[in-house]
Amino acid sequence: MAKRDYYEILGVNRNASETEIKKAYRKLAIQCHPDKNPGDKEAEERFKELSEAYAVLSDGQKRALYDQYGHAGVEQGGGFSSGGFGGTPFEDLFGDIFGDIFGTGRRGGRGRRGDDLRYNLTISFEEAAFGLETKIQVPRHQSCGHCHGSGAKPGTSPQTCSSCRGSGQVRFQQGFFSLTRPCPACNGEGKIIKDPCPECRGTGLTRSKKTLSLKIPAGVENGNRLKLSSEGEAGAHGAPPGDLYVVISVSEHPIFRREGQDVICEVPISFPQAALGCEIDVPTLDGKVRLKIPAGTQGGKILKLTGKGIPVLQGYGRGDQLVIVRVETPTHLTARQKELLEEFSREGGAEIHPMGKGFFDKVKEMFG
Ligand SMILES: [Zn+2]
Ligand SMILES: [Zn+2]
Repeated sequence: MAKRDYYEILGVNRNASETEIKKAYRKLAIQCHPDKNPGDKEAEERFKELSEAYAVLSDGQKRALYDQYGHAGVEQGGGFSSGGFGGTPFEDLFGDIFGDIFGTGRRGGRGRRGDDLRYNLTISFEEAAFGLETKIQVPRHQSCGHCHGSGAKPGTSPQTCSSCRGSGQVRFQQGFFSLTRPCPACNGEGKIIKDPCPECRGTGLTRSKKTLSLKIPAGVENGNRLKLSSEGEAGAHGAPPGDLYVVISVSEHPIFRREGQDVICEVPISFPQAALGCEIDVPTLDGKVRLKIPAGTQGGKILKLTGKGIPVLQGYGRGDQLVIVRVETPTHLTARQKELLEEFSREGGAEIHPMGKGFFDKVKEMFG
């Protein structure tokens, strides 16, 4: 049996605060507490369901997992993997296949669950790093309000199909085998609508746009998927809805790029700055940071700004920012600048260029 949505169980919306969740839980827990309802099985079940929902939604980390992956996310104890399939839970990938093999999944026709939907959301580099709350508008089919999803004109009801007696399937013989296929008379629905609902023309569905609040956790990556249970297409004729998958794509940043939890950034400095040492302002996700470049810094040197990287998704701590130093060779020199550099060149001994000296010493060894 499908599990109910935890927010629905507590009767709160998706962006309810901790206090709202606690309040809702207290109120409902008092109502259906087993001590108050001795012998009432239904109340006992509701109380269990309520406790489970509260255990997850009152725990920040579990709640984030649940928001992202639904029940699968919290049942697997947070078996989250980033990258690749964007942390697609195992169950989502294989659920359909197993369902088909064992005949328990969605088959065409009767009581077919609504389709899953995909929504592409583009966010900035900074939003991916720190998370964001946003609203999205999802165009989708919803259960028709006029006929309550039955597809039959109000006041009438769908008739059981006489060809398949409501099973939605008919048997046929092929060689030695007796096989089944969806009933052609009712398209596998098991029911026939004589008087279709005028609003939805018998489909039981109407098109609409739903606004959903989304909480993107800090540290998401390009390609990550967030699952919103039961926010997909409505099922035909009252069947349960599908799920909505929000697929994240992160815009390129003009200065930063990401490697795992680290932010990489290249900073150009001038040749005199590299030789003499200096202090420069380096942009980070948290604003400018003063960075000391030691005298004699070579191009390509990587300096680390600890803890200035990207927060760990669903975890603790942050990566680092790695600053790659680029030493810029001066161009378009004035006559005076040329003169100074030539003078500098005449002045310098081999020991001011240790790398070059080392290299040419090796060349000498090679050719004798
Ligand atoms: Zn209708
Ligand atoms: Zn039929």
